[in-house]
Amino acid sequence: MSTLVAADSLANWPIASGSTGYGRAALAGSALISVLLVIVCLAQRAGRRSTEAALRGTIAKQSERLEEILATSKLMELLQVCHSLTEANRVIRGALPRLLRDAAGAFYVSRGPESALELQVSWGGLTPAQSFASEDCWALRRGRPHPYEPDRSSVPCQHLGSATRACLCAPLVADGHAFAVLHVQSPSGEPVSADVQRVAAALADQLSLAVGNLRLQETLRSGSERDPLTDLYNRRHLEISLHRELARAQRHGHAVSLVMLDVDHFKEFNDTHGHDAGDAVLREVAEVLKRHSRAEDIACRYGGEEFLLVLPSCSLDDAYAKAEAIREAIAQRRVFMHGNALPRITASLGIASHPLHGERLEELISCADAALYQAKASGRNRIIASSPPGDVVLFEHKSRGAG
Ligand code: GH3
Ligand code: MG
Ligand code: MG
Repeated sequence: MSTLVAADSLANWPIASGSTGYGRAALAGSALISVLLVIVCLAQRAGRRSTEAALRGTIAKQSERLEEILATSKLMELLQVCHSLTEANRVIRGALPRLLRDAAGAFYVSRGPESALELQVSWGGLTPAQSFASEDCWALRRGRPHPYEPDRSSVPCQHLGSATRACLCAPLVADGHAFAVLHVQSPSGEPVSADVQRVAAALADQLSLAVGNLRLQETLRSGSERDPLTDLYNRRHLEISLHRELARAQRHGHAVSLVMLDVDHFKEFNDTHGHDAGDAVLREVAEVLKRHSRAEDIACRYGGEEFLLVLPSCSLDDAYAKAEAIREAIAQRRVFMHGNALPRITASLGIASHPLHGERLEELISCADAALYQAKASGRNRIIASSPPGDVVLFEHKSRGAG
C-alpha cells in the first residue's frame, strides 16, 4: 500500500524539471518503483500459482485416499460374506494389486499354530516360495511390518531365499498370534514407497479379522476330516466318500480310478535332513496333489508318506496321464528350508480302476497298493497300473533316468 502511495505522489511531480537533478532523481525513483511493482506482481502471481498447485496436489491426494477407503471398505464387505479361504483369496487377488498401487505381492496364511505359511495368491510376476516356516519371516516373528532394503542395514527374511529385492512383509495378527503375512515388492526392485508401506500395513491390519474368522471356521469344519499337516482329507473321510463314489459309479456305470502314491526313500530323507524338512516335503506333495485335482476328486493322506487320489468318472488311461503329471511335478519340485533348497525327491505310484480291477473298496485299494509295490520293486519314480486279476501288468512307465 505504501508503495502505491509513494508511486502515486511521484507521478504528480513536475516532469518538466526532468533536466534538473531533482528531475533525474525523480525519474530514476519512478523507474525503480515500477520495477518493484512488477516484481511484487510477479511474486504474487507465482505465489498464487504455487498455492494453487499445492491445493491441487492436496485435493488429488485426498481423492486418492477417499478411493482407497472406498475400495478397502468394499473389500472388507466382500470378505465378510465369503464362505471359505479359497473364496476370500479370489477377492483378495482382485483388490490388492490396485490398492497397493500395482506393487507385486504375495499373500500367505498358516492353517494352524504349528503349520507352515502357505502361499494363497501372488501377483505382479512374483515367483514366491510355495510355503515356509513362520520363523523364516521377521514380520511374523516380530508381529509387526518388516521392511527390507538391500543397501540399508536391514535383514532379509529367509523365505525370500537368495532373490532379495527391497520388500515389505506385513503380518496379520489375531489374539496376539501372527498367522498370515502380506508381502509386497516394487515391480522394478526399487524400495517400496512410504505410501505403499502405509497401505500394506493398514490392509494387513484390516484383513486380520476377516481372514482370521474364515481360517477359524475352516479349522472347525475340517477338524474331523482333514489331516493337520497337509490339509488333505484323512483316511476316515476318504473311506466314507469312496464308498459313496463307488455306489454312484455302479449305479451310473462310470469308472472310478484310484492312484496310490508313496514318497521314495523317505526314511533316508528324514534321517539326513530332519523331520521338519520331511514335513515340508509332505506338504509339497500334498500341494501337487491339490493342484492336479478337479473339484470332484478326493486327495487324501492315507498315512505317513502315502497318499491316495480318488478320481471319479476317470478311466484307467486318464488316471495314468494324471499320475504321470503328478510324478513329474513332484520330481521337478524344489522345497526350501530356511532359505536353502533341499534335494529333489521322487515318488512311486500304483493305479487301479473300478470296475476293471474290482467292485469293492478293499479290492481296489489292495490292487492299487500291489501296483505301487511293483513300482517300488522295479526301481521307484515310476507308475504301474494294476492288472486285472490273473492278468499281466497292463502298462508301466519308466521315467527318464530312473534306475
Ligand atoms: P520306500 O522308497 O520303499 O517307500 O522307502 P521309504 O524310506 O520311503 O519307506 P519307509 O516305510 O521305510 O519309511 C517311511 C518313513 O516315513 C519313515 C517315517 O519316519 C516317515 N514318516 C511317516 N510319517 C511322517 C511324517 O508325518 N513326517 C515325517 N517327516 N516323516 C514321516
Ligand atoms: Mg510307505
Ligand atoms: Mg516311502
